[in-house]
Amino acid sequence: MLQAMGLRTWAPAPFQAQTAPAPAATAPPRAVVPAARATEPAPLTRVVVPPAQPVLLPAVLPVVLPVPLPTALPHLDWTALRDAVASCRACSLCESRRQTVFGAGHPQAHWLVVGEAPGEQEDEQGEPFVGASGQLLDRMLAALQLTRAVDGPEPPAQRAYIANTLKCRPPRNRNPTPAEVAQCEPYLMRQIELLQPRIILAMGKFAVQSLLRSDEPIGKLRGRVHRYQGVPLVVTYHPAYLLRNLADKARAWEDLCLAAGVVRRALSAG
Ligand code: URA
Repeated sequence: MLQAMGLRTWAPAPFQAQTAPAPAATAPPRAVVPAARATEPAPLTRVVVPPAQPVLLPAVLPVVLPVPLPTALPHLDWTALRDAVASCRACSLCESRRQTVFGAGHPQAHWLVVGEAPGEQEDEQGEPFVGASGQLLDRMLAALQLTRAVDGPEPPAQRAYIANTLKCRPPRNRNPTPAEVAQCEPYLMRQIELLQPRIILAMGKFAVQSLLRSDEPIGKLRGRVHRYQGVPLVVTYHPAYLLRNLADKARAWEDLCLAAGVVRRALSAG
């Protein structure tokens, strides 16, 4: 069977006493044993029988090996970056996604909103934040006169680009693993470099872990201005959390006002 699959086969070698080292290539030829000795009883020698080795066959089930991110990623433009995300196979989430969710908004927006990962509807539509939490996010942005629309007359200060920490939906909306977050991170990093936002709004635990390298709870990190590579960053609650915890909506509104103040001051400083 192995030969039929093109694999090299071997004939089992006769057992050898393990006590005698294998002769070196340069060893002198051994003395020829006279034929009569063949009938003499063999001297007692300890023979070590090697354990049976399992035969390793090629796996029958396909093994999906991760494909590393493109090395040119730090130099990709928007189009090439979107294509790289669309064809990404760097972690197992590519197996269960319907499609990747790259981001949405104008590439010259002053605001960058970073969420967690696509949910079911985002996975279906290829757009971030289109489900219930997306509707709440849109209302929060509208309250600040911000839009995610790509076309329209708004200046960059009134535009928000929306991206997620992960570009693929984790199955059954489970939390992403640290390895998945780490694999996907370079895509978000490049989006930030290309966008050069004036403010980053990090929504929820995974955006914060990725951008601030912090495991502190949102409640501890919100209410002040952090920095991501020099860009001001405000932490706030994820809209999905706010849908379940109405009392924290007022705090989220304070966070948005804090972020708006940062942009206003940056603009007035030129
Ligand atoms: N939650 C997120 O963090 N992102 C989405 O795109 C949708 C829900």
